[in-house]
Amino acid sequence: MAYLHALREFTAGLLARVPAVCGLCHDSARGGQLCSYCYQAVTQSMTTGVPRCQVCQLALDSRGGCPDCDQHAPAFDRVIAAFDYAAPGDLLIYRLKVERQFTSASMLAGLLADAVQASSLTLPESLVLVPVPASRAALLRRGFNPAAEIAYGLARRLNRPCRPGLVLRAREGAKQSQLGRLARMRSTQSLYACAQHLQGAHIAVVDDVLTTGSTLHSIAQALKAAGAASVWGLVLARTPYHSGEH
Ligand SMILES: [Zn+2]
Ligand SMILES: [Zn+2]
Repeated sequence: MAYLHALREFTAGLLARVPAVCGLCHDSARGGQLCSYCYQAVTQSMTTGVPRCQVCQLALDSRGGCPDCDQHAPAFDRVIAAFDYAAPGDLLIYRLKVERQFTSASMLAGLLADAVQASSLTLPESLVLVPVPASRAALLRRGFNPAAEIAYGLARRLNRPCRPGLVLRAREGAKQSQLGRLARMRSTQSLYACAQHLQGAHIAVVDDVLTTGSTLHSIAQALKAAGAASVWGLVLARTPYHSGEH
């Protein structure tokens, strides 16, 4: 699998040098990348100075206070998102997930890497990236896990390792017999489980869209129960509160 991802990254790297069209408006741009106009349009939601929750990055209204974090204290520590899940960035997510344009994952990973670098936060040196595991049904439907594609591209750009096996879906995929006793106990409490000890580790969970944060919360619980010192969320898009829930 690592070979396959390296090959995709290599191909995306070659394409990036070839004049082609913008991944959003089809005006001219370097292969697979966004033109400067679309780059600005997609990322400006994160740069316009709207107040945001310091934990989950939700855009806040004039009343302040985060409705998601107030309702449900998150187990994760901090989220960085590349754009709001709204036009025009939502079209990029649609093309990746619904139209299955997995080659756009490299460009999207670049947007997220830019957001990480633009943030005032310093990622831990020992940070390990892990994608949200896809359900078996979603994998069969799409043929790939969008979060994993983004995580590999992001790991390469941030010069951090990507370890997809660190988090398992506990109610499928992960055979209970492969989990230790502790992990089995954890897996009954959550959809996700971590089968390894992570004493003091810093983990970044990578996903495409963060809606209410419940998936990231469940995974962070499993990672912290396994000893993780901090859990970050690195996501392409943060769903604004008024856009509803999945
Ligand atoms: Zn464009
Ligand atoms: Zn919040």
